[in-house]
Amino acid sequence: MNTEILVVDPHHPQPEPIAHAAAVLRAGGVVAFPTETVYGLGADALSESAVSRIFAAKGRPANNPLIVHIADLDAARRLASHWPAAAEKLASAFWPGPLTLVVPKADSIPAIVTAGGPTVALRIPDHPVARALLLAAQRPLAAPSANLSTRVSAVRAEHVAAGLSCRIELILDGGPTACGLESTVVDVSGPRPRLLRHGVIGAAELTAALGEDIEIVERHAGDHDVGIASPGMHRKHYSPAVPLDIVDGSGAADLAELLRTKSKIGWVSCGGDASPTAPREGVVQICLADEPEAYARRLYDTLHTLEAAGVEHIVVERPPRAPGWEAIHDRLTRAAAK
Ligand code: AMP
Ligand code: MG
Repeated sequence: MNTEILVVDPHHPQPEPIAHAAAVLRAGGVVAFPTETVYGLGADALSESAVSRIFAAKGRPANNPLIVHIADLDAARRLASHWPAAAEKLASAFWPGPLTLVVPKADSIPAIVTAGGPTVALRIPDHPVARALLLAAQRPLAAPSANLSTRVSAVRAEHVAAGLSCRIELILDGGPTACGLESTVVDVSGPRPRLLRHGVIGAAELTAALGEDIEIVERHAGDHDVGIASPGMHRKHYSPAVPLDIVDGSGAADLAELLRTKSKIGWVSCGGDASPTAPREGVVQICLADEPEAYARRLYDTLHTLEAAGVEHIVVERPPRAPGWEAIHDRLTRAAAK
């Protein structure tokens, strides 16, 4: 299959590419599109055959459920068998935005979307292209990140094409995404809200909107565990194609050691002054901000850039252990999982 790529204005999407993408989706096709978090790989969430094509394109295991994207709150409520009070509070505080809510599922959602489970993950994205597409398609879109399973999420159309070309019908290219990291996932289907995946929206903000504490579920289950709280949150995930290590301190010794056996190494430092070395042969060094939002925006892009540069190993200087960095530590730990 030839994958078509259409450039679309991220702020004021042109009607023609949106209408074309919506037609592809209504015909059961798969379309990658930008959201404010990462690129999504969308298909009609109410069609089992369309959704099965997402799993096939990504090589995603069937036990990893998908996030369903909708255009508005009414559409969200229709996909839930019950709309919990906590969902109402969080939706009014953060939607549209980078928050995914896990609620009891409605019967209309095929089992393939939820990996056979009784709950569904829902989100209203805050990106003009995603919203225009949802309105034009006139149906909920199941859309996981637009990357091969376990690999680094795509934050540019080029990343989608590198991983999924010839596997999907269409990519809407709306430029780089704003957040650069996946949504925060909160399960509000039980008696107490639980944070299943760290993301751009932090626990303190969630607690403030809920008016109650949120339980943070730490998941480091093995790849083959079943029955864990968020089935897709395996330890190894969001990984580049080459080994990645996180180092403490300047890491100069780690670098010297690696250079004995590797000819090209990627080095991700944090904060301008923390750079461990002067420019040196065999090292592609990228320095990220020492502030979490700006760091998150460039992290995946940086990992994709290093992969494309052909490095054999990536070394990441550990960012600060401070509030606001939780999602970044979570993703780096998963990227480094062997
Ligand atoms: P992705 O869209 O690739 O970022 O992955 C979506 C993630 O959302 C999955 O890996 C799960 O961790 C989580 N998720 C989706 N549906 C559910 C659900 N019904 N219950 C718990 N977690 C979910
Ligand atoms: Mg993903």
